[in-house]
Amino acid sequence: MEIIGSIDQLRARLSSEPDVCCVPTMGNIHDGHLSLVKIARQNAPVVITTIFVNRLQFGQGEDFERYPRTFEDDCAKLEAEGNTIVFHPDEQEMYAEQQEFFIDPPKVANTLEGRFRRGHFRGVCTVVVKLFNAVQPQSAVFGKKDYQQLAIIRRFVDQLLLPIRIIPAETIRAPDGLALSSRNRYLSAEERKEAPRLREAILQIRDWIRSGDRRFVAMEYAAGALLARYGWNVDYVVVRNQRELRRPAADDKDLVVLGAATLGSTRLIDNLEVSAP
Ligand code: AMP
Repeated sequence: MEIIGSIDQLRARLSSEPDVCCVPTMGNIHDGHLSLVKIARQNAPVVITTIFVNRLQFGQGEDFERYPRTFEDDCAKLEAEGNTIVFHPDEQEMYAEQQEFFIDPPKVANTLEGRFRRGHFRGVCTVVVKLFNAVQPQSAVFGKKDYQQLAIIRRFVDQLLLPIRIIPAETIRAPDGLALSSRNRYLSAEERKEAPRLREAILQIRDWIRSGDRRFVAMEYAAGALLARYGWNVDYVVVRNQRELRRPAADDKDLVVLGAATLGSTRLIDNLEVSAP
């Protein structure tokens, strides 16, 4: 496996590669990321995983400084998964001068995650477009774990006519249902036991929807209240339509339940697609 830190070197290496699939990450590689690499390998002969903790997408008081950086371990895992190249730029390489041009995402970026993490998607979209320009891949894999991120990236790639196929990947979970995340390592042993409840609250809503219930606001309230009873600080648990992440209209059947809540000092997110009958 090759490890490349500079954009010039990366471009030189890739200049004669006709089919490259990119997996953007912030590192601290776990089985969720590795599932993306596996999908990428099925889609292209050359897979580039990028590892870059992007300051721009972290708000003030968020965990940019303490975000786990485990580069050696990450490389061992990626190599074992058959990844071709790790692109690991430092901050100087990605932001040689102060970033003044940004991708300005639409209103949906101010809802859900964007409401609680102001500027987050502006930072995400801006770094993703920069990574795309550095790597110039034919395709890229993103996890449904970050459902709103995937939805926003799909739309900007579409609207800005980027010639890149966006491939979605299902969420990988621990045996007890907790979605794998680099932030799970912040949880204490006790919090780790409690953590699957976010998923359970979402599953409860899924079951109600599947049984034909469309009283979404009541469901959202019940799920939020349940989590609060167990000590969670709930940002949202909501039902939205898959396409636009809007409140479902009467005839919307392709829905998604999204949740974000903090346990102790660790903020977790999860979601689940649901087809209404
Ligand atoms: P991150 O390093 O957290 O920025 O994530 C990099 C990519 O991995 C994103 O596309 C995430 O959606 C995806 N990802 C993170 N956790 C999981 C998971 N548990 N299952 C599948 N994909 C994931």
